[in-house]
Amino acid sequence: MCKKDQIQTKIIRVDADRPDDRLLESAAMALRKGRLVAFPTETVYGLGANALDPAAVAAIFQAKGRPGDNPLIVHVTSIEAVYALVDAMPPIAIQLFAAFSPGPLTLVLSRSALIPDLVTAGLDTVAIRLPAHPVARRLIDLAGVPIAAPSANRSGRPSPTRAWHVAADLEGRISYIIDGGDCPFGLESTVVDVTGNIPVVLRPGSVTNQEILEVTGVLTVGRQEIAESSLVTPRSPGMKYRHYAPRAKVLVAEGPDPVARAKFAGSMTANLHLLPSEIGYFGCRRFINLLPAQQKVAYGDEPEPELAGRLLFDALRRLDRSGVKVIIAEGLPEHGVGIAYMNRLRKAAGAWLVKGEEDDDQ
Ligand code: AMP
Ligand code: MG
Repeated sequence: MCKKDQIQTKIIRVDADRPDDRLLESAAMALRKGRLVAFPTETVYGLGANALDPAAVAAIFQAKGRPGDNPLIVHVTSIEAVYALVDAMPPIAIQLFAAFSPGPLTLVLSRSALIPDLVTAGLDTVAIRLPAHPVARRLIDLAGVPIAAPSANRSGRPSPTRAWHVAADLEGRISYIIDGGDCPFGLESTVVDVTGNIPVVLRPGSVTNQEILEVTGVLTVGRQEIAESSLVTPRSPGMKYRHYAPRAKVLVAEGPDPVARAKFAGSMTANLHLLPSEIGYFGCRRFINLLPAQQKVAYGDEPEPELAGRLLFDALRRLDRSGVKVIIAEGLPEHGVGIAYMNRLRKAAGAWLVKGEEDDDQ
């Protein structure tokens, strides 16, 4: 971006639990005027714009470098506000919103005429979430409009879970960054398409398949299973793009336990023929402590997908900053939140495999 095109980005630090309205008011006003504001949610930082203003929504795609066929999630703070944005509210959507909202769950519903085409990339559905983070909620309420907000990263980069991650990608491109500290979950919301007769999990997240089953009595299916059957064709644009990619190449050390995983990581390390300072590691302490690591980020003592997920994107960015060429991350069993963690990690690793393709978003 040319220097002359840059705008001044103001960073506002607020209390995550009790944000002061006086600090948020200017950012809320900026949203009403069609400007872009990054703010914390319980999942990752979002890059917000007035969802009902096509020019403001276009500015999100521009600032992120996001392909126009990747639709945005619209954020509101009440179920009443959802009704204005959708054409129909199936019973399962009511059940899921009641159980998990506000929180890290996004539902794909058929859209109302109020939603501009740009938001949904021309689809006849719209993705909606009620965030739980007090800063996100207060900012949306003060703005007084639904807020379209993808993750506040440049397209293809790891999602931001700290204010400095946002600044690193978007400073000079957006009006405000509201710094509300670390995002509590650290992985993006679970996205469930409830427009068909079976709920389809388009993106796994902190709300797990098991939790959805317990609340609805209905088994969800994943995108993969749907793609392989001929039952329904869910459209989940954006899934084809590069995701979560740090500059370093990411390798995943999988295995039945931390010791086996560390052994695998050790043999990968030996084959890389790099200096010790050129390799970074991410995992639990039991895994990390078995490796001759100089650059390492541990999230806790034992394998724990919730803690790993909370720190994953921060670890990728921190290790990148330290200048490593390769990041070896510990794989975790794929159940519960482990499904979402491995989904992001595999995409971060896979992104390297398709390096050279266009830098696109999630
Ligand atoms: P992001 O906010 O960038 O983390 O990503 C939002 C995700 O929600 C992307 O993977 C989109 O493809 C997905 N999404 C948003 N709107 C829809 C929709 N109407 N139908 C299906 N997926 C959607
Ligand atoms: Mg994103």
